[in-house]
Amino acid sequence: MGLLSKKPDQPEEPASPGLVAWQPNPRDRCDKRWCVAQAYVRTLHGPRHLPLLWCAHHFVELETDLFMGGSRVDDHRDKLRAAEAAFANKKEKP
Ligand SMILES: [Zn+2]
Repeated sequence: MGLLSKKPDQPEEPASPGLVAWQPNPRDRCDKRWCVAQAYVRTLHGPRHLPLLWCAHHFVELETDLFMGGSRVDDHRDKLRAAEAAFANKKEKP
C-alpha cells in the first residue's frame, strides 16, 4: 500500500545527485574509514555520479587518485578556512 503513495512524477532516487549543488553540513562526515571529521569536499564518481564526502585532510591525501578517476569536485574548504579564521580571532580576543 505504501508504495502507491509515491508521487508519480518523483523518480525512485535523484538520477544524478551530483547535479544538485552540495553545501557542507555539520552532519556530513568524511567517508574515509574511521574518520569522523566534518566533510568539506564532495567528489562524484562513475556514470551515476555517486557522491563521496571528504574532510580537508583526506581530500588532500587522496586528491590525485580522485582526479584520476574523473571525479567532479565540490570543494568548500574555503568555508573551513573561514571557520578556522573566525575561531582564531575569537581566541585572540580577551
Ligand atoms: Zn577524513
